Amino acid sequence: MDFSWTSEQVELYERAVAFSRAKLPEETRTEQGLPRELWQRCGEFGFLGLPVPERHGGLGLDTLTTARVMEALGRGCADTGLVFSVGAHLFACVLPILESGDEEQKARYLPRLCSGEWVGANAISEPEAGSDVFALKTRAVREGDSYVLDGGKSYVTNGPSADVFLVYAVTNPAHGYMGLSAFLLERGTPGLSVGRPFEKMGLSTSPTSPIYLEGCRVPASARLGAEGHGAPLFKRSMQWERACLFAAYVGVMERVLEQTVDFARQRKQFKRPIGKNQAVSHRLADMKQRLEASRLLLYQACWRMDRGEEAVMEVSLAKLAISEAAVQCGLDAIQIHGGMGYMTETGIERVLRDAIPSTIFSGTSEIQRDIIASHLGL
Ligand SMILES: Cc1cc2nc3c(=O)[nH]c(=O)nc-3n(C[C@H](O)[C@H](O)[C@H](O)COP(=O)(O)OP(=O)(O)OC[C@H]3O[C@@H](n4cnc5c(N)ncnc54)[C@H](O)[C@@H]3O)c2cc1C
Repeated sequence: MDFSWTSEQVELYERAVAFSRAKLPEETRTEQGLPRELWQRCGEFGFLGLPVPERHGGLGLDTLTTARVMEALGRGCADTGLVFSVGAHLFACVLPILESGDEEQKARYLPRLCSGEWVGANAISEPEAGSDVFALKTRAVREGDSYVLDGGKSYVTNGPSADVFLVYAVTNPAHGYMGLSAFLLERGTPGLSVGRPFEKMGLSTSPTSPIYLEGCRVPASARLGAEGHGAPLFKRSMQWERACLFAAYVGVMERVLEQTVDFARQRKQFKRPIGKNQAVSHRLADMKQRLEASRLLLYQACWRMDRGEEAVMEVSLAKLAISEAAVQCGLDAIQIHGGMGYMTETGIERVLRDAIPSTIFSGTSEIQRDIIASHLGL
């Protein structure tokens, strides 16, 4: 077993951390959603197309290196909302186009989405279909050379800014799991409207909104993949997202741990650094242990994906470990920073607010435990 990185991987990781620190500022919130200038900067580095082949505008990285660069982005960029938007765009919109798109779709969308000219979004969740994600009500009815879509999607990351939406709809209700199809809908398509952005507890720079579809007619060429193949396509995109998007939270935990260790060495009470108290140093040791354990689960899952394995359980193990460690990391960092940790100006409490949704999106912790249990034969 070899745990070492190649010199190219080391160089890329270090360059990605340095770029994120220097060029992606703390938090930029605009009324219009994602700041386009920052988005284009993400595209310039290559974050928006990490595993996409170079001929389509990406960096052509394997899964493990993609995860490592997402980790660098999470470590270097203190704006976790922006990082989350990058991950949702890349793993739940760009990747499905790469893996299931025809040549025309790839040529139209991939270069624009990888360069930062366009923003992508993924729209599956509905008011009645959250964890029970395949209980969709949105319908796509074939009429000659078109499909007409009707329905609505509840939480669409990047919705307020997106130029292209990957929308899942029922094409054949009698076929259950194999009755869903995926469609690429461009902003401005008649019948597609974007609702008001939600105010959220965290990830506030990542805009989220509902979208509505009313008699939304698209040509049959807007379908991504074969009719009835929407569910496997979505499951595959979740594999990517649960692995590589969550790599960013590994980077966040590393940054927060470094910051908290520094604080524990400098902050003095009772005439000595607070880190000299075992109650504090053991909390930091536990933070480190959770970080490294979840990191190893992540690397193992990505390594298996690179070997062509489905790695469904391994990816769920990694997602579960990282998201729950990230929430605990936020709580621990606040506790060690004391009153300062609770004040918004230090940015520490934001770590917790940005971590909490990670146990909900891409499948909740309960759903990840269900997947793991089913692989144990339960
Ligand atoms: C910040 C954020 C961004 C998001 N972005 C997107 C996006 O871009 N596109 C998109 O389509 N969706 C998105 N979502 C939606 C997300 O995927 C759903 O919120 C998630 O799948 C859970 O669905 P729900 O909110 O309806 O909760 P529910 O499914 O109603 O679950 C509520 C609670 O019940 C539990 N529960 C449900 N079923 C079971 C069960 N069988 N066993 C045990 N417990 C169960 C859940 O674990 C949870 O604790 C986003 C959500 C958030 C918070």
